[in-house]
Amino acid sequence: MSATAPITQDVLTIRRAPQTGKRNLIGLTRPQLAAALREIGTPERQVKMRVGQVWQWLYHWGVRDFAAMTNLAKDYRALLAEHFAIDLPQVVSRQVSADGTRKYLLRIAGGHEVETVYIPEENRGTLCVSSQVGCTLTCSFCHTGTQKLVRNLDAAEIVGQLMVARDDLGEWPVPGAPKDETRLVSNLVLMGMGEPLYNFENVRDAMQVVMDGEGLTLSRRRITLSTSGVVPEIARTAQEIGCLLAVSFHATTDAVRDKLVPINKRWNIRALLDALREYPRLSNSERITFEYVMLKGVNDSDDDARRLVRLIAGIPAKINLIPFNEWPGAPYERSDWARIEAFADIVHKAGYASPIRTPRGEDIMAACGQLKSETERARKSRAEIAAEVAGGAGH
Ligand code: SAH
Ligand code: SF4
Repeated sequence: MSATAPITQDVLTIRRAPQTGKRNLIGLTRPQLAAALREIGTPERQVKMRVGQVWQWLYHWGVRDFAAMTNLAKDYRALLAEHFAIDLPQVVSRQVSADGTRKYLLRIAGGHEVETVYIPEENRGTLCVSSQVGCTLTCSFCHTGTQKLVRNLDAAEIVGQLMVARDDLGEWPVPGAPKDETRLVSNLVLMGMGEPLYNFENVRDAMQVVMDGEGLTLSRRRITLSTSGVVPEIARTAQEIGCLLAVSFHATTDAVRDKLVPINKRWNIRALLDALREYPRLSNSERITFEYVMLKGVNDSDDDARRLVRLIAGIPAKINLIPFNEWPGAPYERSDWARIEAFADIVHKAGYASPIRTPRGEDIMAACGQLKSETERARKSRAEIAAEVAGGAGH
């Protein structure tokens, strides 16, 4: 990436969440939505139909106002508006990289901030979604792992990341216009901030909304969940989500993995591989992606490559080599290109696809492992919010 690459950063109008305390309908699964509609007195015989109608407005048309749900009776629309809200994370800023990658900084309840990254490619577009503010794990090469502030995102905040990206990309259908089958966001990866398997229920519910056959309709094969290796939740991921799995492997001995991915001290390489052997069978999915960050002189030798191949024998796998993305103060360096290629070659000759991941959006710090909302920045945001509230500022 050239140093003079044009970077654009624009602050979008902040959509202020109404401070109503009303229940947010975004992120509810169909059964949860049905229960919510029952609670406001929807007659049992109508519940299923109402769920279908509201669902279509929310997730097919992207409507944000109950008044626009024109196939519902006026009284019923008013009843919905009285009890419920349609709330999305607020877009604080959007940066667009020279390579077209877009990074969104989103503000969620409590003044916390998370990042979402959109990566356009030739035949597809991938949205990299966060599952937590920060991360409780402390992988030594990952910027997110240095963030102190941590909270789980709820299902609305996870689904909301996709909806906000679709807003920005103009990807909602226009009534009456010919159906457009091209999808700007065609794939979703849970590879942003946080460990998704430490927020299992919210991630699962959010993916249920995203994978539903009506509305957002991303199939489970277009969703990849990346975990650092929360072994007890891996079988559950297969059974309750069924998406593709990526695992942050990164080392071929427990001694090195303990340092890079400290969760290895709890569930070591053997325990992790045992869980992974079961995954494709349980989820009826294809290969598992082994993510492997290339750190100069740490995990990038030919011996490492050979050990890796031996370890994963028998697991349908693809090895994704990630050149280390540097961040200010990082204690590692990226392996030399020739080293990465030599490593890839050994893995490839053993019969595994071994793509080298091209870093995207480096100029806007949007690449893997670079996401971190500074504590200072978060603090300032809270101060800003307090000031806004005190001043009664509204949009
Ligand atoms: N917590 C999950 C998902 C988010 S991280 C996990 O760890 O799998 C997404 C991927 O980026 C992981 O494979 C992670 O190990 C990798 N990563 C983290 N920091 C990185 C960095 N600085 N450079 C390259 N990859 C990094
Ligand atoms: Fe958390 Fe993943 Fe970063 Fe490790 S690599 S600190 S698990 S986000």
